[in-house]
Amino acid sequence: MSNPIEYLKGVGPLRAELLKKELQLFTFGDLLEHVPFRHLDKSKRTLISEINHQSDTVLLHGRLHHIEVVGKQRTKRLQAQLRDESGVLELAWFQGISWVEKRLQEGAKYVVFGKVGFFMGQPQIVHPEIDLLTAETGLSPGLEPVYPSTEKLKAKGLNGRAIGKLTAALLPQLQPKDLPENLPARWLREHALLSRYEAYKAVHFPTTLQQYQDALYRLKFEELFFAQVRLAMIRSRRHRFTKGLVFEQVGNYFREFYEKHLPFSLTDAQKRVIKEIRNDTGRGIQMNRLLQGDVGSGKTMVALLAMLIAADNGYQSCMMAPTEILAQQHYASITRLVHTLGIEVRLLTGSTKKSERVKLLAELLEGKISIVVGTHALIEDPVQFKSLGLAVIDEQHRFGVAQRARLKAKQEVPPHILVMTATPIPRTMAMTAYGDLDCSIMDELPPGRKPVTTVHRTDAARAGVMDFVRKEIEKGRQAYFIYPLIEESAKVDYENLMKGYEEVKAFFPEPKFYISMVHGKQSPEQKETNMQRFKTGDTQIMVATTVIEVGVDVPNASVMVIESADRFGLSQLHQLRGRVGRGSEKSFCILLTGNQLSKESKERLQTMCATNDGFIIAEKDLALRGPGDIEGTRQSGALNFKMADIVQDKAILQQAAAMASQLIDEDPELEQPDHAVVKQFLQAKKGKNEWSRIA
Ligand code: ADP
Ligand code: MG
Repeated sequence: MSNPIEYLKGVGPLRAELLKKELQLFTFGDLLEHVPFRHLDKSKRTLISEINHQSDTVLLHGRLHHIEVVGKQRTKRLQAQLRDESGVLELAWFQGISWVEKRLQEGAKYVVFGKVGFFMGQPQIVHPEIDLLTAETGLSPGLEPVYPSTEKLKAKGLNGRAIGKLTAALLPQLQPKDLPENLPARWLREHALLSRYEAYKAVHFPTTLQQYQDALYRLKFEELFFAQVRLAMIRSRRHRFTKGLVFEQVGNYFREFYEKHLPFSLTDAQKRVIKEIRNDTGRGIQMNRLLQGDVGSGKTMVALLAMLIAADNGYQSCMMAPTEILAQQHYASITRLVHTLGIEVRLLTGSTKKSERVKLLAELLEGKISIVVGTHALIEDPVQFKSLGLAVIDEQHRFGVAQRARLKAKQEVPPHILVMTATPIPRTMAMTAYGDLDCSIMDELPPGRKPVTTVHRTDAARAGVMDFVRKEIEKGRQAYFIYPLIEESAKVDYENLMKGYEEVKAFFPEPKFYISMVHGKQSPEQKETNMQRFKTGDTQIMVATTVIEVGVDVPNASVMVIESADRFGLSQLHQLRGRVGRGSEKSFCILLTGNQLSKESKERLQTMCATNDGFIIAEKDLALRGPGDIEGTRQSGALNFKMADIVQDKAILQQAAAMASQLIDEDPELEQPDHAVVKQFLQAKKGKNEWSRIA
């Protein structure tokens, strides 16, 4: 399996170079894992009289007659009649006419393969494969594999079918011992799975299409299963072995806050998650928890309560946000909530002044500060804690696995980690990308929220939209106008935003209307001032790019107009929309677009108008875009499977995950003799792929 590809018959050094460059096929094993995307059914000969409108590709035997070139210039073609004992069919060539013509012999017997089409009601095959009928070509080749290839390979004679010649040379050389079984024998029986060896043979050269499907299933299952086993083992080992800090008690900070300062009663979902966190942090394991909640479900409060528990036990906490604005906002709302508790809360971002920063770092190290809120700046090396007990990562989308690792490395006994998502993640993706974490779900919004009414309007309706916004503002509400970041250049985006600003201003010319603007080119202070003016109601309108996308909380804002809404992804739209509907007033989201929309854009907009449920939107987003494109996950590499696709193979993934966690529950270190094959395979693969590096 590890033989270099150039050792294979039919692959010289030149082809080997190309196979490596174009398809990353370095070894026999790589070629084996390069599976066909379809098969040409040459398993049986068809009679011409059997051809009908349902026919797809067919294999025919017959004699050629009436070979002639007809038509002129653009209609010029070579045609011939193929006759068998049952009927006649026309063959046609539009290209390479003289070359083909020279090869064809009037009256000779041929094997013909191709896709049936109909021309003027008569069946015909255009550009068929055609070979003289001989003892060899007359044999049925069965199902012939066709492989993914590239233009460069095709130019060197390695098209999708030619690669099949290579796999055909490879397969007879393989013994069962080259592809040892890696699933327990009992499972193969109980779940009717092909053995690994059979599956690899059959995925290339099946005898029936059913067998091909079975082989593909087995190989996809195996791929997903091992990814899930790895994650289940990481989870299980953390539960069993990692030493975690123990938050023994709920003390005065928490109690006083909960009893005297909590501005509302918690939702059941919030209570449940607090309990889960209590449970994780109280029993000596390290918590690694993903909190998925829809926009506005109140994740910040959960984080704050958890940080108070840490403080009650003498530990420090940090809370990281993806943007400066958001960090400032968290800092402001947390200090407002806890200022009477006598707990030290600080802010650390990229723009914290040098002198202040030096002081802050010293106080963190001394343990004077209990809670520090900030941006990426928090995980930089100079930041040292006296005893970091809990790290909260807000809006995970922008933080990767690497950052989590850096946090863990900050001290000997790693802090508990709570990761909060900006919007829900599709289940299959959460399973694969965050399967090593325990997961909490908040699927409940605080009471009294009115669902945001979302509509789609085209530019033609702009004046009406503006009138509507004006009425809302005159009622005392506030409005957002959001512009996309489209161009590669920040300059063009800035100019677009300015145009937008002028346009909004033109609709609201009276001096009583004040407009804030926030965009990426401003300094953090400018952004903060503009945000603050909007927050306090000094300005009624906020014109912004997506910098306000996450987390911003202005309950009095009840309208959001999203310009060029077709330029945004679904989860981004949902996240943006979450900025309204936070107060008690009825809120609106207006999606503005031009008239011309792609089918996918239309579907996105329709989804937004149809539902406010982030969990549903997340699934739709994944279905529309596919796993490769979901923000923030590409970097993890966790979703790049060779054979499986987490959208299309959802059912297989679910089965694989269920079997993996059952297996690890029963036999966490894979010590039972039955499970030895699984263990061996895991060990053999270690370090060979993205997955184990992350794990
Ligand atoms: P997200 O989950 O999107 O981060 P936030 O934590 O920003 O949501 O909370 C959204 C708004 O809901 C905030 O104004 C917050 O104060 C409020 N909130 C949170 N929990 C509750 C609750 N149990 N009852 C009422 N309002 C709540
Ligand atoms: Mg939030």
